[in-house]
Amino acid sequence: MYDSIVIGCGFAGAVTARELAEKKGQDVLIIDSRSHVGGNCYDRPDEYGILIHQYGPHIFHTNIERVYQYLSQFTEWYEYRHEVVGNVYGKELPIPFNLNTLEIVYGDRAPHLEKLLIDNFGEGARVPILELMNHENDELQEIAKYVYENVFLKYTMKQWGKSPKEIDPAVSGRVPVLLSRDNRYFQDTYQGIPKDGFTPIFEKMLNYEGIEVRLNCEAKDVLTIDADAEEQVLFEGQPFHGNIIFTGALDELFDCRFGRLPYRSLRFDFEHYNKPFYQSHGVVNYTVSEDFTRITEFKYLSGQLDAPDTTIVKEYPLAYEGLDGQIPYYAINNEDNDALFEKYRKMVDKIPKFYLLGRLAEYKYYNIDAIVDRALALSQQIR
Ligand code: UDP
Repeated sequence: MYDSIVIGCGFAGAVTARELAEKKGQDVLIIDSRSHVGGNCYDRPDEYGILIHQYGPHIFHTNIERVYQYLSQFTEWYEYRHEVVGNVYGKELPIPFNLNTLEIVYGDRAPHLEKLLIDNFGEGARVPILELMNHENDELQEIAKYVYENVFLKYTMKQWGKSPKEIDPAVSGRVPVLLSRDNRYFQDTYQGIPKDGFTPIFEKMLNYEGIEVRLNCEAKDVLTIDADAEEQVLFEGQPFHGNIIFTGALDELFDCRFGRLPYRSLRFDFEHYNKPFYQSHGVVNYTVSEDFTRITEFKYLSGQLDAPDTTIVKEYPLAYEGLDGQIPYYAINNEDNDALFEKYRKMVDKIPKFYLLGRLAEYKYYNIDAIVDRALALSQQIR
């Protein structure tokens, strides 16, 4: 029998499985409902040889030394410099809104406004847009209004179906106003894309003594969870007393008995063009127009800059309704939804050795580095 069963082959599950096998000598079964490993970080060459990210663009960035070192065991890095521009009525503006953007938008007034921003918040500061909006100075409010209307409002309405003021401030706080001339989207010390893609990281991580990978396997088909039963966990009908590390959607494990946990989903429309480049940057955000939020051109991310043609993807956000093929991507955190999540969490609370890990299972946003860090910490605790 297995010492641990891990549900989900994304970073949360894969790192945990590897750590338990390697550091604790455990026998681990890791399952995934999909036909491949890697979760939403799964990438593959498309029919034209361009490395595409099937579930949307993933760019690794971190300040956490141990996470960078850990992943570097499994890959070398392509030092992709991730810069994003917003397409604002046809004009391209650096995003996050920074001092270069200020110059493009305000021209001659920019030096004065720059001084005002820096006097108030300090050089290099990352100012959340909502904080800037609430400032008493009229000119700072004017900048805030511009950024709100041209960068955040429409994009956020598309992405979340809600206005920026209605969404969790942690969400829009991820893209602050940046008081520097650094056009990179992230300012972390380590940034890059795995040289051969993300998928080989997972293959290497899981190709280890003691780890068994089972794909095309739905958690609820093999696991029966009932905290009040004498045997709380059954695996394929047999009592299981080892660890369960669950990284999937908790409501679905319980057939959504209290109602569905709300998530945002995405539809990805891939397009191929017989020309070297489609757009000026790896990612262009459409912040005032279109029904999609952004277009990613993959050759920038993969470094295949010499390829004669190109593949792009447009992202269309939509409500997650649990339909076949739909994927829950983003938890919609607010008081009601978090309370509903708590109800599901209580269903597994009393089960010893049952651990919830990751975006879906914890109903919160994680970047890659944060979930790798969390998985490393959790697997140290697990016996
Ligand atoms: N956002 C926005 N305009 C942009 C970029 C981001 O309004 O051009 C807001 C939007 O609400 C989005 C959030 O900031 O959901 C976080 O953006 P991020 O790029 O971190 O989103 P992710 O890559 O996780 O989808």
